[in-house]
Formats: sequence, structure tokens, C-alpha cells
Amino acid sequence: MLGDNIVMQYQINRIVKRCEVWKGRLLHYLRLKPTSYNIEMVCHSSSYLISWLNELQNYDEDAYERYVLNVKSLLERASETIFNYYYMKCKNSRPTKLFNSKSYIKNVKRLLDHIYYVLWCSYYAENDSFIENVYNIIVWDIAKNLPPTMSMKGKEDRRVGRNLWELLVYFEKFLDYEVPEWAIKKFQTKDLIRPKVAEEETYNIMAVLDEIEESNPSISSDLEYRMLRNDLLWATELGSKERRKILKKVLKQKCECGQNFSIVKSDLLYDIKRNDIIIFAKIVCKNCGKTTVIRRPVEKTRMEFDALDKLDEYLYNAYRISLIDKVKAMLQKQGY
Ligand SMILES: [Zn+2]
Repeated sequence: MLGDNIVMQYQINRIVKRCEVWKGRLLHYLRLKPTSYNIEMVCHSSSYLISWLNELQNYDEDAYERYVLNVKSLLERASETIFNYYYMKCKNSRPTKLFNSKSYIKNVKRLLDHIYYVLWCSYYAENDSFIENVYNIIVWDIAKNLPPTMSMKGKEDRRVGRNLWELLVYFEKFLDYEVPEWAIKKFQTKDLIRPKVAEEETYNIMAVLDEIEESNPSISSDLEYRMLRNDLLWATELGSKERRKILKKVLKQKCECGQNFSIVKSDLLYDIKRNDIIIFAKIVCKNCGKTTVIRRPVEKTRMEFDALDKLDEYLYNAYRISLIDKVKAMLQKQGY
């Protein structure tokens, strides 16, 4: 027992030392003039400090509580500094007309690229009022002045609309802030609407996660869980996009008789031999009825499965909840 305690204390001291290093660096960059480089370094050092804080919390809740008191005001300053820097740039480039918003979109992109640092720092600093402030600015100032995703030109610009949509969903899901209907509509694009192919599994995963969070309120404030859930959301978006792209291509082909095909069935299969996830589609000619089967490996869908595994493992280790069992149970209930 005593031996264990010594090892434990040694680990805690080691982690606290790492915290101290990053705290020092954060303080250093916060004191410097807020240039693009220095702000990047504020983001960098605060995220390292936070990950060591996380580590400390895993080891010893009391040591964490004591230490976090020390850095709360520093993290508070970091979140405000990062946000103000990028927000000012947006504010100064705010367009007078929506169609004339090129530099504004560019600055909003930079703000969105850094917003999660802002939120994590505020979260650890327990600075709820600042998070609320950020939310209000994002909705009523940033989103309001940004053109709808549909009317944005170029892939990069459209991604800004989509990232904003992701952020609004993040606020809504994790922080319980209601996003106004107009904002959702403005940034929802065709690509974000759920795929037409049968994908009960992904829908069910999100539904099950909502259920889990409702019956275990402490889980939704677990940062590690949120990060893994966010990874899964991302991977799911990428995976379904990949699948839709393949199916769209398949449907563009023409039958020998010159007619178009339609999809009879599509599904995901696991090819054990090759260790690949395959999308399978059966298509039929609308005219002569000829059927064709198509199989393609889907790399991004694989990432989605990996993200699901990671979240499942974490939920099981931390809360003894098996996500995959719950998803399966739900599928059975629906008769799949
Ligand atoms: Zn045909």
C-alpha cells in the first residue's frame, strides 16, 4: 500500500511539473504583443496545459482541484485573448453588403479554426458567462453577417459555412443553447442532409448517445467523452459523404440499353480477408431490368468505425456502458 502511494505521489508530481512548464509558457505568450504567431502559441500552450490537467484529474481528483484553482484565471485570460484577437479581425472586415464578403469569410474561417481552444479554456476556467457571450456573438454577429452556405463560392468558403453549422450543433448539443432556426437553415447545405441510403446504424448511434446522456447527466460534461463523441460526429460526416459520392457515381452510369439505373439495395460489408470495409450496391436498369452489383472499399467509413470503437471503449472503461450493445438492442427493437 505504502509503495503504491509513493509511486502515485511520484506520478502526480511528474504531472504537476508538466503543468507548471506549460503554465509558464502560456503566461509568457500572454504577456507578449498579440500577433498571429503569439496567439497561436497561446492556443498551443493552453491546450497542452489542459491535456496535462486532464491527466492529473485521472490520477487524483483532489490534486486536480487544488491545481486548477491556480490556473483558472490564466485560462480565462487565454480564452478571452484568443477570442478577441480573431473576433476583432472579423469585426473589422465585416461586409456592408453580403455579396461582398471575401475577406470577412476568410477571417471567420480563422476564428472558427480557433474557437475550440476558446471553449476548452473557458470550460476549464469554469467561465460560463464568457461561453454564453461567445455563443451570442457567434450567432448574432458572426452568423448574421455571413452569407448562406448555398450562396458561397468555392469549396473553402463553403467549408466555413459547414464549420459554422458544426459549431452551432456543438453549442446546442453540449451546452444546451438553442440555436435559432434561421441560423441552422442558413448554413445547412445539401451535403449535410442525412444520406438517402439506408444508414440506420449511424442515426441510431446518435440517438443512443442522446439517450445515454439523458440518463447519465454527468457524462455530457465529461470532456474526454465530448471529444470522442465529436470525433465520431466528424468521422460520420466524412464517412457518409464518401458513401454518397460513390453511390452518386454509380447512378451516373448508363446501362447498355442507354437507360439509367436505380438502387435496389446498398449496405456496408466487412471483408475479413482484406480487412476492408466495403460498400455494396445492387442497381437495376429502369428499362431492361438488368441488375449489376458494385463493391468499393470505403476508407473514411473505416475511420468512422474506428471512432466508434474508441468511444465504445471509453464509455465502457469509464462508465461500464456498452455503446455497441445499446445500438444493437435498438436495431433489434426496430426489427432489423
Ligand atoms: Zn438496360
